[in-house]
Amino acid sequence: MIVMKFGGTSVQDAPSVERVVKIIHKHLPLRPVIVVSAMGKTTRRLLRAAELAASGDLTAGLDQLDELRNYHAEILQSLLTVETQPTGTRLREIENLIHDIAVSAVEARSDVDGYFGEIEPLLTGLSILRELTPRGRDRIASYGELMSSTIVTHALRRVGVNAVWLDARAFMMTDESYTRARPLLDIANPKIVEHIRPRVQAGQVPVTQGYIGSTTHGITTTLGFEGSDYTAAIIGAALDVEDIQIWTDVNGIMTADPALLPEARTVKVISFAEAKELTHFGAKVLHPKTLFPAHEKAIPVHIYNSRQPDAPGTVITTDAPPSRTPVKSIAYKKPISLVTITSHGSSPRLQFFKQVFDVLERAQLFTYLAVVSELNVVLAVDPSEAAEPLMLELKREANVSLTPDQAILCLVGEDLTQVPGLPADVFEALRDWRFNVISQGGSAHSLVLIVGANEVEKALRRLHDWLFQDSDPEVFAC
Ligand code: ADP
Ligand code: MG
Repeated sequence: MIVMKFGGTSVQDAPSVERVVKIIHKHLPLRPVIVVSAMGKTTRRLLRAAELAASGDLTAGLDQLDELRNYHAEILQSLLTVETQPTGTRLREIENLIHDIAVSAVEARSDVDGYFGEIEPLLTGLSILRELTPRGRDRIASYGELMSSTIVTHALRRVGVNAVWLDARAFMMTDESYTRARPLLDIANPKIVEHIRPRVQAGQVPVTQGYIGSTTHGITTTLGFEGSDYTAAIIGAALDVEDIQIWTDVNGIMTADPALLPEARTVKVISFAEAKELTHFGAKVLHPKTLFPAHEKAIPVHIYNSRQPDAPGTVITTDAPPSRTPVKSIAYKKPISLVTITSHGSSPRLQFFKQVFDVLERAQLFTYLAVVSELNVVLAVDPSEAAEPLMLELKREANVSLTPDQAILCLVGEDLTQVPGLPADVFEALRDWRFNVISQGGSAHSLVLIVGANEVEKALRRLHDWLFQDSDPEVFAC
């Protein structure tokens, strides 16, 4: 059994869905379970419609919804025609197939219409309440995946695949932290097995939604933006599959974000430890939490391009083979803010550190990096999370200052601390640069630099040119 997850760009229009269907068809002998994201930019547009309605502009919200309705209707319409005429089959069987396809097409259309019929009154409700709660956001956002999975199920049936649509909210149980709900794996795992395994054993191809879940009381939740990858990994781990495949719009994990650096190369094989560092520090090709369930069960994660299904892609494994090129990839994240907390020295050192980390925990402030010295703690945080809780709570103990508009640049590779001369190479490449933080050794697999946000891309290009001049062909592909 395998899990195949298709991201938003992989299902953004009818030709993309056709490609996905072909890819799934080819993998049928491996008994796939399919996880899909919302089509194209649907999630963002649904939330925009909700925001408009809640701000009082119901008409604009409904206009957005109409656009989405047309977008989905067009994709569905293009997929309605019957194309496959199985050869060597008796006429009667062909007639049956055509009949089944016609029934499923009508069902798909009415399901999608039904979803839009549900969203409309929700928008009206928001415009009356003039309020969009996190719980309301999740409810609205969930329709993107509900619709895309319905359409993909139909597109598969149309070519004779015995696809069955499953509502992820029946098994992906989460806590109640709306918009970034945490799966309750003790409850979810047995439900995943119970809902999905018998279908696969019966020869069906389950198609379900990424990103969405449900509280134990049946209220819709979401796992946070880009959470579909995480769904795929959770399902894969629960079912002990042989492979978790993430199908996206690039040829795997690359030496840098190809949107920034078109010459970036594919990293053919990378370890879980390295990939975790990369996703933590901004490589958006995978949701950062994806790798944990897979790593725990040592299930390989493959990343493939749905537009070039025959390209090798990347495999993430427990132990990556040695590489002559020590750095595998460079990620960056911007903007971030640096918070510098300097103790007045009035309380003992360890107590001061404890206070700082206690505030982080209470305020649920996410930090990318923490560097500690005699009287200072420097934290890299998202600007939206700001430093206010730290400033308010620690003002008697410390000075707290904020440096905005920074960026994290993270070089990732296996055991980088053991590579002689690597820092020398990095500083040679960036010899005229200023760094606000340099950190190595926090993880053996990364070297982190903090530079000004406006110069991070330039620094990345320079480092990439320098470090990947002669990359190991065993590990990197063009
Ligand atoms: P999906 O919709 O399939 O989930 P995403 O847009 O979330 O796709 O992720 C794929 C994108 O990740 C790519 O288009 C690419 O721009 C970006 N990306 C960032 N860093 C990397 C990297 N190191 N390797 C590959 N892609 C990366
Ligand atoms: Mg993604």
